[in-house]
Amino acid sequence: MKKFLVKIKNLILYLLFPRTCFCCGIDLPAKEQGFLCKECLKKLKKPGPIICQRCGITLKDGGAHCFNCRGTKAKHFKCSLIRSALDFNEPSRSLIHGLKYEKYTNIAKFFAPLMYKTLLENPNMLEAEYFVPVPIHKKRFKKRGFNQAEVLARELSALADIPILNALERIKNTKSQTKLTKKQRAENIKEAFTCQIPSEIKKKAVILIDDVCTTGATLEECAKVLKKAGAREVYALCATKE
Ligand SMILES: [Zn+2]
Ligand SMILES: [Zn+2]
Repeated sequence: MKKFLVKIKNLILYLLFPRTCFCCGIDLPAKEQGFLCKECLKKLKKPGPIICQRCGITLKDGGAHCFNCRGTKAKHFKCSLIRSALDFNEPSRSLIHGLKYEKYTNIAKFFAPLMYKTLLENPNMLEAEYFVPVPIHKKRFKKRGFNQAEVLARELSALADIPILNALERIKNTKSQTKLTKKQRAENIKEAFTCQIPSEIKKKAVILIDDVCTTGATLEECAKVLKKAGAREVYALCATKE
């Protein structure tokens, strides 16, 4: 009986608010609970099959590390491991856009199980005591009403049973990174974060959480601050890898 009532409720909701695919805009069938149509769902893809052992970028020509993480260079990174659940392509971009700019925070429920799966595939990361969301500047937070990284971390925290620690603050309201080169991105994000609670971070292993990883400059800058505050290890887990 209960199931039947849920079905009726969903049908009424569907008739009132017909739902469409976030990517291609096609109408979704009433029984469809997701955000993408079957065709767009099929286009979602994990990075790989061969990825850089540090930053997680897809290596088309194989090998263990990308050019940036090769040899002794890897030692200089404060963020020791970056993993992402999905490649940043048309359907995943639409979902990130929906989550971030159209305020469909429910989309985090779609990403969280995929991020959790990625976490389980990287058992090193399971030593982490906290998830640390990459913060947005308070001005942006006021405008948006939420931090998408924190929304993702919240869903993930429920699955992985790892608590969230808002250890970082964004003190620089950086301009959008989208149109910047790799070098400009690193410069733009420099000294953008602080850690106000170093005593809670000291000797802890943490996992940074973010929606999109592009060059990894933001994650590295966050990791720098956390390491300086005494963190034992800093990993990063993102919803998508651009
Ligand atoms: Zn579609
Ligand atoms: Zn790499």
